[in-house]
Order: sequence, then C-alpha cells, then structure tokens
Amino acid sequence: MSNDDESWLRVKARLRAEVGDDVFSSWFARMDLEQLADGVVRLSVPTRFLKSWIQSHYAERVLACWQAEQEQVGRIELIVRSAVLKTTVQPKPKAELMAASDGARGFGNGINGGNGVGRPMSAGDPGVHEALGGSPLDARLTFDSFVVGRSNTLAQAAARQVAAARRGDPVMFNPLYIHAGVGLGKTHLLQAITWAGNAANERKVLYLTAEKFMYGFVSALRTQTALAFKEALRGIGVLVIDDLQFLQGKSTQAEFCHTLNALIDAGRQVVIASDRPPSELESLDDRVRSRLAGGLVVEMGTLGEELRFEILKARVVSARSHHPSFDVPLPVLAYIAKTVTHNGRDLEGALNRLLAHNKLTGQSVTLEMAEREVRDLIRPQEPKRVKIEDIQRIVARQYNVSRSDLLSSRRTANVVRPRQVAMYLAKTLTLRSLPEIGRRFGGRDHTTVLHAVRKIEGLVGNDMALAEEIEILKRQLQE
Ligand code: ADP
Ligand code: MG
Repeated sequence: MSNDDESWLRVKARLRAEVGDDVFSSWFARMDLEQLADGVVRLSVPTRFLKSWIQSHYAERVLACWQAEQEQVGRIELIVRSAVLKTTVQPKPKAELMAASDGARGFGNGINGGNGVGRPMSAGDPGVHEALGGSPLDARLTFDSFVVGRSNTLAQAAARQVAAARRGDPVMFNPLYIHAGVGLGKTHLLQAITWAGNAANERKVLYLTAEKFMYGFVSALRTQTALAFKEALRGIGVLVIDDLQFLQGKSTQAEFCHTLNALIDAGRQVVIASDRPPSELESLDDRVRSRLAGGLVVEMGTLGEELRFEILKARVVSARSHHPSFDVPLPVLAYIAKTVTHNGRDLEGALNRLLAHNKLTGQSVTLEMAEREVRDLIRPQEPKRVKIEDIQRIVARQYNVSRSDLLSSRRTANVVRPRQVAMYLAKTLTLRSLPEIGRRFGGRDHTTVLHAVRKIEGLVGNDMALAEEIEILKRQLQE
C-alpha cells in the first residue's frame, strides 16, 4: 500500500469519527482516492448526486481531514467515476442482500437500494437511483412472522392485499395509512410489505423512514431536474413511509405533498405508518392531511393477551432455530403474556433476557426465573392514547351540545363552559400544544386555549361538582 493510500485510510477514519457511522456510510463509503499530486487530492464517487451533495455539505470538512494528515494538501477535487471502469454489479443472492441491509447502511445498500442490483431501473439519472435507496430492512420482519389477532386483522389484510397486487392492477386503497401506538407492529407490517413486494419482483417497493425521506429523498429531488425526478418515480411501484409523524419542515412537506400526489395520480401505491391518525398530524398542511385521509386509514389496537401469547410462542420457535436448547415452558409464556402488557418490543425484551440468562448460566427457564428477570418490564397499564376528537365527542354528549357547537364561535354560556372543559381536557390528557389545540377547536388562538385551561384549573379547586364532572369525563376517556 502506498503512503497516499495509507493517508487516505486515516483520513477516512478521521471523517468517520467526526461525522458518525451513519453519515459516513451514507455519503463517504464509496468515495475513492484517485490521485494525490501537487497538493491536489482527487477523489471519486460513483454518482453525480453524491458528488454535488458532498461538495455542498462536506467539502471543507474533507479538506480539513486531509490537511490534518498531510499539511501540503491545498485543494480537493471531486469527480464522478465513470461507470465503464467498474465492472457491473452482479445480482446478489438474497441472503447476502439481507445481510447488507443489516449492517451497512447508506444509499444503495439493502435490498431496495436502487443500485442496479439485479433490477435496473428506467433510464433515469444514476444519481437519482442512488438517492432513492431505501432505509435498512430487518430480515425478520416478514408476513410469516407477523401474528394476526383481533387488533391487527384489518391492517394485516390490507397490507397483504397491497403486497400481492401486480403491476397494472387497479389500486384499491391509496394511500394505505396505518396508525398505532409504539411497539404495536407498524414497522413490522411495512417491512413485510417491502420484502414480499420485492421478492415477487413485480413492482419495486421502496421503504423509507420519514427521516430518510427528509434527508435523502427530498434533497435528491432538489438537485435533480423535474424530468429526472419523474423518471425516478416511474421506477417505484410502491412507496412505503414509516413514522410519518417525524416529517417536519415546510419545504419537506411541500416535497412530500408533491411526491404523494405524483405517485397517487400515476396509480402507484403509497403506504404510510404513523403513531396518530391523519387528522392529528398537526404540522401537516390541510390538503396533505385530507389526501392522506382519503385512502384507507386503519388503526391497530393494543396487543391483547392472546395475541401476546401467540407472538411469544412464535418468537420462541424462531429463537430455537439458532439456540436449539432454549426451551420456554408454556406456563412461563402465559405468565409473560399476562404481565408484560406494554408492547411488542417489551415482549421481545423479556424473551431476550430469558435467553441470555439461560445461555449464560445454563439454567433452564422456569417460572421463578421469569418472575425475577422480567420484573421491571411489568408496568402498570399503559395509559390510553386520548384523541381530541374523543374529548370533543364525550364532552359534547355530557353537556348535551353538539360537537360543532364546541367548534363554533358561539359564546352563549351553555357552550362556553363545555368548550373550556374540553380544551382543558385536551391540554391535560394529550401531548398537544396550545396552538394545536386551538386549531382543533375551530381555529382559535392559543391564548384562548390558555385562558380556558387556567379558568377550569381555577374553578375545580372550589367547585366540587365541576371537579367531579371532570373526573368522570377523564375516566370515560381513559377506560
Ligand atoms: P412499531 O413500529 O409499531 O413501533 P414494531 O413493528 O417495531 O412496532 O414492533 C415492535 C416489536 O414487536 C417488533 O419486534 C415486532 O416484530 C413485534 N410485533 C409487533 N406486533 C407483532 C405481531 N402482530 N406479530 C409478531 N410480532 C409483532
Ligand atoms: Mg416503528
């Protein structure tokens, strides 16, 4: 290895330490040193998109890292490696693709990276394909490992339907919008759609977290022409976006809206998951919200005890394929299913502990061991997610007014008080901000909400009857 090559290795290590693994593998993993001469470092990347991104975001940093290694470096030059120099990528066997999606993150990795891996896309710009690379997938999250129960039957059926659709089939519901609390299987279902769709090799399924959408996809759009963007979209059969609640920023939303409309209008399927229904995506523009609500919106409820039990059983079976000696008696599973009520992630955590204990100490799994190991995962019943709509509905019913009275500008006493109570409940039972609450109450100002909250707070201290009314309302909302 030449001196320069060694320097390059050290520069890369430096960069990685500075920007972190994720950023490094997204942008620099495929950057090569071509030449170092006369104080000019010539680096190459595979696409124009990468080049322009690095140039505008990291040029100085890369230069500084070089200068820390070799003082005489004065300038960095970025070039796009010509594709003909590199041999074309052969389609990889699936197992390898899965592995790639676990470890190496970054564009173009993973099964749905538009890296030309076995599936050349239409003749768009390679930079766009690059940028369209999806988020990493977990090989375990498939339909086979998804256990169906009362709370998720509809969502699972809709997801299967979407995954099974063929190119050119009429799109039944668009977008498919799945919402549920944390750990209830949203990501699992979305990735199952992605695996199934891509395995059938019918339509390209692109899975993106909202974050990836913001930092990869959107920025790629900005550097591409409208034509290149259209070309790229043409290659996507199904766009899957996870954790939509994290989508932020006005311009990102505009791009999202644009993408959503373009795909839906072109008859492409869009699938979305979020922790709340479209109506409660406070920061989204009304038009986007209504577009989202215009497809099929499905909620997944909490996992019932039976479903938890079935999930645990399935988990043990799959754990046993790697650890044949791992055996969990059914009463232990029943115990965990009964007591660990939180969500799917805690169920997994509980089993992992039993497995670790069993492996490390060689003791077999007993009820006693389980009681000891999972103690801290047993939480009091997770408080229910209260929705502003429910508050309005229940308060309206209680005070015998209509929901539209609550949202109206009427100021008669029989509406004012219930409205204040409802706003007070919205503030105390949900995490919504004052402006958000104001908006949901007929577009009121946040100071009006604040006034209502203070007013009711002041009253409940002295007015026993009101305090009791509010307690009853809270109980109804939380049961
Ligand atoms: P979310 O994205 O809704 O927060 P995840 O999809 O990440 O939740 O699920 C959390 C964990 O629970 C994952 O390990 C997932 O495999 C498991 N899980 C949730 N629901 C199910 C189900 N119905 N069948 C099997 N595993 C499930
Ligand atoms: Mg998730």
